[in-house]
Amino acid sequence: MRNRPTLLGRLILLLIVLAGLGFAFRQGLIPARYSPLPALDLANPLPIIVDWQLAELKYDRELCSRVLVPPHIEAVQARDKPLRNGCGWINNVRVSSVGGARLHVDTVSCQTAAALALWMIHEVQPLAMSLFGQRVTSLEHMGTYSCRNIVGNPFWKDRRSEHATANAIDISAFTLENGQKISVLRHWSRPSPESEFLKAAHRAACRYFRVALGPEFNRAHRDHFHFDRGILSTCR
Ligand SMILES: [Zn+2]
Repeated sequence: MRNRPTLLGRLILLLIVLAGLGFAFRQGLIPARYSPLPALDLANPLPIIVDWQLAELKYDRELCSRVLVPPHIEAVQARDKPLRNGCGWINNVRVSSVGGARLHVDTVSCQTAAALALWMIHEVQPLAMSLFGQRVTSLEHMGTYSCRNIVGNPFWKDRRSEHATANAIDISAFTLENGQKISVLRHWSRPSPESEFLKAAHRAACRYFRVALGPEFNRAHRDHFHFDRGILSTCR
């Protein structure tokens, strides 16, 4: 006679299934049409599930074009560059403005562009208004796509960087309405409203990006914030 699974056995099986489902949602493997989650609305992100809502954009071109719309972001689809040797991209966009600020990006993943819009609209712009009484009018970056491995981390040195699929962006400076530029390199360390702004903006990025690294992570990041929507989770 076959033994029936014990209660503990069934519980373990259930946990394995739930963990598998959670992983599939996290990696954007569940197409939006099969997902019980409401689609992402850049004007109204839902706490807790926003990470999964962003992940749904990973492979879904149609959802991407419905979500990335003005006035939240100005973006058009970029032509795919099929992956070779771990480098390339699919479902990327070209960006000209985000959260009311100019930003020129030739190619960035749809979900990273959406995370950037959420961060600008709900964190950076309100922060700039409260500290300086002005909005941010443009952003500077140091790149999105670069076919390379992770640098500066001995444990991950053989792994492709999220930049290899343009699933990351390096933000280096913000310009306010009066023309004042706030740069990570110049303003991060010395106590000032600019430093307060940069530190709060960096902390808030962790709500939308899985990895948000700044000058305190290592010397390689002394002049920019690295944001990505990869598989790891780090906020330093
Ligand atoms: Zn980076």
